[in-house]
Amino acid sequence: MSKISNCREKTVFSSANTNVSGYLVSHMIVMDLKSSEDILEMLDSFEKVVLFGDSGCAQMCDVGGILQLEDMDDFLTGHGKKVLGYIFVEGGMCDANALKQEIDANIEMIEEADAFLIQACGVATQAVVELLPEKEAFPAVDSKFLGVMPERYHHDERCSMCGECVLHLTGGICPVSRCAKGLLNGPCGGSMDGMCERDLETECAWQLIYDRLKKLDKLDNIKKIWEMKDWSLARGPRSIVHEEI
Ligand code: SF4
Ligand code: SF4
Repeated sequence: MSKISNCREKTVFSSANTNVSGYLVSHMIVMDLKSSEDILEMLDSFEKVVLFGDSGCAQMCDVGGILQLEDMDDFLTGHGKKVLGYIFVEGGMCDANALKQEIDANIEMIEEADAFLIQACGVATQAVVELLPEKEAFPAVDSKFLGVMPERYHHDERCSMCGECVLHLTGGICPVSRCAKGLLNGPCGGSMDGMCERDLETECAWQLIYDRLKKLDKLDNIKKIWEMKDWSLARGPRSIVHEEI
């Protein structure tokens, strides 16, 4: 019998989009698998484990798709754990209703488990904790940033969710997440040949902003001294309730 809660054929690139130039590109929460030592340490006192993954960001980052759940199953089984099966959510585990449906459909397996290992972002782990508070859920990954995937296995940071977007002033290039110093009134003066002084492999965000504003004939934007950004908007816990349209 399949260990997968929600059996499906497609496993990779299900939520990828192709842009106008035919370039495969997708945007997502970017995450990275924790070390095997860290994962084994978290599960040290637990034997029977259920793995969680989804076809959204987790699959796109190659940490929580079906293939990665199977790899984790092999790894944990090889280290004396008993993997009872997988809860796999089509879309993202941040959709609490979809997650609950999968849990309800597999409640016997959930009840038998000692612990849950979540191969998706921190939101997913906390969603499982809220739905299944009687048992422990552990994060198998570190959530890093919101990014773009220009090619498979390659992720670049684009947004750190500062709460007050300034892209309309910067030609659509984010200084908060793409400038190494997060400067709002850049550049810092250290840029060399268009590259950042901190990392000569990375383009200077403020050079990109300058070039873009010049092209848009909006260089006046860069001459303005911006007021202090309200960083309190970047702090949690944040909640938003959208009004129905
Ligand atoms: S300005 Fe803030 S919200 Fe806009 S892209 Fe940058 S980090 Fe994200
Ligand atoms: S060189 Fe550019 S990207 Fe790097 S810290 Fe200075 S302004 Fe920011």
